[in-house]
Amino acid sequence: MAEFAESLDLLWGVQKHDSQIVREQERIAKASKAQAHEQAKVDETQATLKSQQEKLRQLKNEHKELEGELHRLDERVNQLDAQGTEAGSQAAAKQRIKIDELETAGLELLSLISDQESAIELTRSELATRTNVLEGVAKTTKEVTEAAQAVINQHVAERTEAVKLVVPELLHVYDEVQHRHPGSALCHQNGEFCNACQGELRAQTQMQIKARAEIIRCPHCLRILDV
Ligand SMILES: [Zn+2]
Repeated sequence: MAEFAESLDLLWGVQKHDSQIVREQERIAKASKAQAHEQAKVDETQATLKSQQEKLRQLKNEHKELEGELHRLDERVNQLDAQGTEAGSQAAAKQRIKIDELETAGLELLSLISDQESAIELTRSELATRTNVLEGVAKTTKEVTEAAQAVINQHVAERTEAVKLVVPELLHVYDEVQHRHPGSALCHQNGEFCNACQGELRAQTQMQIKARAEIIRCPHCLRILDV
């Protein structure tokens, strides 16, 4: 009986290490999440830039094709004028109408190209800002992770020593519960309630907890109970 009660006392020490380990692991997870969040923003901006650049390429191609067509029409008009005939002049006039339409379309395209170039410039500057933020967050994440890992390693080493004197059966159950409730597998009884889940405890269970002679678990959350 004395041995079991001592083991319970020791187990509180083990749990102190475990709850510190959990806290540091949460710190690492939080930092990683923050970095992933910034990375997603950078990825999204890069994707936007890529599609804007593709759109610009298309617009420039369209404009190039239009210039080619204008050039072809100009030559045709020159040929028709050179004929010096009435029919030639009429045909040339028709072509000139087409040329006017194409030139208008060309100006609209140039305006679209200019807008697209401005949009790309904005996205580039946004990308630069977001990349900067990401680099800062990544640096912090690395520092936080390294510091937390050092603390975890220390606690793991101390825990390895601390568990040596805990009776194996108790440690086995503790590790099992610890999986479900990281850092809080062991909890106090609070009057007629479990201090962790606030579930009600039967009178007999309360007596057994006080005796500290065997493993008593909360019937609600399954944690190991102690006085
Ligand atoms: Zn409970």
